[in-house]
Amino acid sequence: MEYDVIIGMEIHAELKTKSKMFCRCDNNARGAEPNSKICPICLGHPGTLPYPNQQAIEWTILLGLGLHCQINELSKFDRKNYFYPDLPKGYQISQFELPFCYGGYLDIDGENIAITRIHLEEDTGKSMHPAGKDYSLVDLNRAGTPLIELVTEPVIRSAEMAKKFCQRYQQILRYLDISSADMEQGEMRCEANVSIQEKGKWKHEDGMILPIGDYKLNPKVELKNINSFRAVEKAILYEVERQKKALADGEKLRQETRGWNESTGKTVHQRFKETSADYRYFPEPDIPPLKFSGQQIEEIKAKLIELPSEKKVRFINEYGFDDITAEILVSDKPLADYAEHVVSELEEWIDSTGDTWERQKNKLAKLTANWLVSELFKHLNANNQTIRDIKISPENFAELMTLVYQDKVNSSAAQTILKVMYEKGSDPTDVMYELGLEQMDDTAELEAVVNSILAANPDQVAQFKAGKTAVAQFLVGRVMAETKGKANPKKVQEIMKKIL
Ligand SMILES: [Zn+2]
Repeated sequence: MEYDVIIGMEIHAELKTKSKMFCRCDNNARGAEPNSKICPICLGHPGTLPYPNQQAIEWTILLGLGLHCQINELSKFDRKNYFYPDLPKGYQISQFELPFCYGGYLDIDGENIAITRIHLEEDTGKSMHPAGKDYSLVDLNRAGTPLIELVTEPVIRSAEMAKKFCQRYQQILRYLDISSADMEQGEMRCEANVSIQEKGKWKHEDGMILPIGDYKLNPKVELKNINSFRAVEKAILYEVERQKKALADGEKLRQETRGWNESTGKTVHQRFKETSADYRYFPEPDIPPLKFSGQQIEEIKAKLIELPSEKKVRFINEYGFDDITAEILVSDKPLADYAEHVVSELEEWIDSTGDTWERQKNKLAKLTANWLVSELFKHLNANNQTIRDIKISPENFAELMTLVYQDKVNSSAAQTILKVMYEKGSDPTDVMYELGLEQMDDTAELEAVVNSILAANPDQVAQFKAGKTAVAQFLVGRVMAETKGKANPKKVQEIMKKIL
């Protein structure tokens, strides 16, 4: 049997506002003593009243605008009722019927993944189960942290696409500087709804999966406990195979919630799924509905910056970067800013030589991409650092590019210079002269060295003349060694060819 894989994502992210969603408690509880960032409001004491965080609401709308959503001019909060020890009120303030944002999309590799809604709610506390003890502990520092939930339509068709969606979404949250979105810290939590349907027996309509004819749809399974992007992909791949096998074995699938177990690489049953009716949603009586005028929405829109997908397209069109390089550069805003600064320096420089970036962009973009993404990243990775930590100014980096571009240094000398720059933040031209790395480019000088090497290696010269041309590599290598790596290797090859 051939199946289509259908995936919808639900992603929660904690906003990094100064205070919590409905009270003045400090929202940054990293490393804090358990239950030290709490007050009667986030503990849900009787008689307290929630007071919505304006910053959190504006950020939610900003995010929605960045994801091409419609903004509800009338919005409200609702109570989602359930009992759990980490939820002292017995309900969570969330949004049900009128979320702040609805109907957007996120572009992944040229495909627009439809977003159903983005709403704002409060996070719960954390339960802890100490090993070997017969009790559990509750830390309520996180209770009341602003939490945005994004829900996509069931339109994602592969585990890889689901992973890319989560990665891009994290980048956007970080570009907008509204969430740290660290999955390991639980600041961003991805859940996937996965079902498989027989090919040709179903269709998409109004964001829903509908059967064709008398086909009976297979239920979706919700996957939780996913703590990394890799796990998003692995959990979905596992789940798809599990569902296929269950159907092949004649089992009936049930709508359920399953948890991803990283150490076994399997999903395990947690519970059969609640429906929204089980939560007895009703409007939050302590917070009046919220109205936004077109003008207010426009004011928030004015704060929107260029996001990674648009930046990637611009980097490709304007600067001539290839797809892979552009994707890497835009993945992190400080890195994208750095690359753009380097490019603008290079543009200025190439203009001053009477040429233009437009004319030289194939060569310049390739050069910059190689030195940024391959060479600089080697140092960043080896030192476990990011672009935020580096001492090399974009001006100096661009200057190194001009030295390479003009053949003033060869590639191995440039690597040596970059290493010094990385360690000390030095000016590349200074390093080049200090270490005597400027390329030997003078024809007469090079001819002299080549002649002396040929004279010293008569056997290899004879072999070359007998047709064993591979031996030329050896002779070039001798010249490079003789000049301590300073000779222009291209020129050495030309000269040697001419003489031989
Ligand atoms: Zn509080």
